[in-house]
Amino acid sequence: VTTKIRAAVLHAINEPLVIEELELDDPRPDEVLVQIKAAGLCHSDLHYINGSLSRPLPTVPGHEAAGVVLACGSAVKSVRPGDHVVPLFVPQCGSCESCLSGRTNLCRYFGVPESEPRIFRAGEPVGRSSTLGTFATHALANERSLVKVRSDAPFNRIFYCGCGVTTGVGAAVFDAKVQPGSSVIVFGIGGIGLNVLQGARLAGASTIVAVDTNSEREAMARKFGATRFFNPATCDGDVAAALLALTEGGADYSFECIGNTAVVEQAFNACHPLWGRCTVVGVTPNGKMSSFNPQSFLMGRSISGSIFGGAKGRRDIPRMVDWYMDGIINIDDLVTHRIKLDQINEGFDMMRSGESIRAVIEF
Ligand code: NAD
Ligand code: ZN
Repeated sequence: VTTKIRAAVLHAINEPLVIEELELDDPRPDEVLVQIKAAGLCHSDLHYINGSLSRPLPTVPGHEAAGVVLACGSAVKSVRPGDHVVPLFVPQCGSCESCLSGRTNLCRYFGVPESEPRIFRAGEPVGRSSTLGTFATHALANERSLVKVRSDAPFNRIFYCGCGVTTGVGAAVFDAKVQPGSSVIVFGIGGIGLNVLQGARLAGASTIVAVDTNSEREAMARKFGATRFFNPATCDGDVAAALLALTEGGADYSFECIGNTAVVEQAFNACHPLWGRCTVVGVTPNGKMSSFNPQSFLMGRSISGSIFGGAKGRRDIPRMVDWYMDGIINIDDLVTHRIKLDQINEGFDMMRSGESIRAVIEF
């Protein structure tokens, strides 16, 4: 038995996604069939579409969503039919060394290739992003890649806690641990960067500089906590030097939220030489390198990366949803476009042009 689904399929790099009818296998004992209610378009999906990141094709992209449980495998304990859920692109099995430690959010199942296909097109296997594939009416998720959330929260807002909100807020709060009164620079004021801004504000940062080549992002940046806006395109000299001056010696924390190797260098060089901490959130293209003078680490400046904001999803996503419902974080203003599955290619065009912050597909 299979479930017939409608999904957006990536067949070839740089070609539009194609909406097709596919077959989804029945849940194995540890799997859950989810009816997707809302799915967000994240720049990470665009990396696969334009080939900056690669995976076997054809595939169903999409990793940021919310939905309702339709059916559970016999061994599933944490959710049942009717529950509202958010799928996790970083699983949390709860029992591996990573899940049990406070050192990382990267469960041992993160990135492990799938042992058998779950989606088929006329009998032929089709892959899926993050063992999810949420650009579809339905998805099969392993129980460890799913968390139950409160049922009074709107799907077309909380889908965003499955990636962008948690990644951005978490990068500031959980990973970098921004301190009250500190200075922060955020590079790239898109769907992720705006959430880093509101995370930095939540943490009590007093100087928050937003950097984006698109000046139209200034108003939104200020609404989400930026105290200054800087457009590198209007700067003649070295961007990092200008930002060192603007922050009177360098930011305590900087965040790269674009995925541009040259901007990673700017973000590192713009933080304080003695204690500045640069966090790389953007996903740079395969094979591209950044370079640093090792002497610049000696005094204490550091750089590290952050996946999914350092969050353990099954623990932290319900908390993000509560923060939204309590008005502690703003999601409403970030979801700028509501579209249907058939409009997904227009949705990615709006991301490319900078017209949208987050577009959400409503099913
Ligand atoms: P987005 O397209 O919404 O935003 C990118 C922003 O960067 C835009 O506002 C754009 O104008 C700006 N920009 C582009 N080039 C610039 C430059 N040279 N200098 C300054 N600004 C520039 O993208 P998003 O959805 O916010 O995703 C951002 C990055 O985060 C992507 O690389 C994505 O893959 C990555 N990401 C990482 C994680 C993680 O867990 N680490 C999770 C989700 C997304
Ligand atoms: Zn994402």
